Amino acid sequence: MFPAEFINALRESIGPSRAERVLAALASEPEVSVRTNPFKLTPAQLRRHFGPLAGEAVPWAAGEGFYLTDRPSFTLDPLFHAGAYYVQEASSMYVGALFEQALSLLGRRGGLRVLDLCAAPGGKTTQLLSHLDDTSLLVANEVVPARATVLAENVARWGCANAVVTSSDPSAFTPLRGLFDIAVVDAPCSGEGMFRKDERAVAEWSLDTVRLCAARQRRILADVWPSLAPGAFLIYSTCTFNRLENEDNVAWIQSELGAECLQLRHFYPGEDRGEGFFAALLRKAGGVANPAASAPASASAVQAALTLVARRDLLKQFPAAFLRDLERLEKSLKVIASGTAVALRKGRDLIPEADYALAVRREGVDGLSYACVDLSREDALRFLSREALPLPDAPRGYLLLTFEGLGLGFVKNLGNRTNSLLPAGRRIRKSYSL
Ligand code: SAM
Repeated sequence: MFPAEFINALRESIGPSRAERVLAALASEPEVSVRTNPFKLTPAQLRRHFGPLAGEAVPWAAGEGFYLTDRPSFTLDPLFHAGAYYVQEASSMYVGALFEQALSLLGRRGGLRVLDLCAAPGGKTTQLLSHLDDTSLLVANEVVPARATVLAENVARWGCANAVVTSSDPSAFTPLRGLFDIAVVDAPCSGEGMFRKDERAVAEWSLDTVRLCAARQRRILADVWPSLAPGAFLIYSTCTFNRLENEDNVAWIQSELGAECLQLRHFYPGEDRGEGFFAALLRKAGGVANPAASAPASASAVQAALTLVARRDLLKQFPAAFLRDLERLEKSLKVIASGTAVALRKGRDLIPEADYALAVRREGVDGLSYACVDLSREDALRFLSREALPLPDAPRGYLLLTFEGLGLGFVKNLGNRTNSLLPAGRRIRKSYSL
């Protein structure tokens, strides 16, 4: 099933008995796990939603992730479209634990600039957002344009306004000297941890690919390194098992770029419930711990952190403290989304934007409050498929449609019919029976 070269290399990298355990596990079914959006639901609420499918908590992400005993149709779950949870491979949720460690060593949770350099489709990005609030900024970058579009959609679904999505080569970050306090490089890799889920990963694997990936990872790391502040943290991760792309690269970061490795952890299928992952926490040389630790931001400070900005005819919510950073980012990078799109001005009309329905914070925008209609699952799926959804008993005008209280999107209610404001590209394409 697996190339002999892979089996030999695995034995050499991790030892023969561990390699046998991994190979045996790779022949079994993959795990399914989800991570709660803490701004929308509690894990207990999400567990109730999944009912008998909800399994054990992911041990290293106990406050947010849990396993499912079977794979439901996420596409046909309105809560998935409302951004109530993300379907994320369990071992990679360890990034959240390392991020918390970096925050506690920094001694502050607010006023941070965080980078997720290789971010699509958005697993780590949405997890990082869960651990931040609107007093910090997250830049999520994905170099491949089509993947960056998916990333922007997943960020919009998470509902946080404190994110900028970019689509640039890592070399474009080099001039942003000292900007970031924490960077995550979840690097493109040879994907040995994808073997159980994706046959292509097996077909594309070779020793040459491993060497090419390791060299590319070093190039990416060298490009982004100047944009980290002295004393900043780097979380470097891959979903592969070999030493070349993992320990050897961590050693290279320490010796060539100048960093201290604070923690390093492997996850192997057969030992940990997940597909396998490697993650290391490093600290760039040259900085001092911030002794003036600011307390976590209060709810009112977070509320006040967002401001409404106009970009041509588009109104957006964005954290006020980072408007100058946004200008700086726009000069160096291809910014494809920033903040939460709230409404589009058309003549005297303000048309609500689809992303505003998904926003965590919709209160406090003058003149932009909408009557809400909470839909049944059937009607929610009709809306998400852009099928006709007459709401004759609801008020006329723009309506915010919700499912179990969480925003899904907008329609304009004309009485005998509604016009959907759900972008065609976001509609469910799968056929379903109710
Ligand atoms: N962090 C993502 C998540 O949690 O959902 C997964 C990222 S995946 C392991 C690596 C990403 O790096 C891919 O989206 C890939 O398109 C991107 N990538 C490929 N080549 C790259 C390059 N030369 N520089 C930066 N990123 C690259």
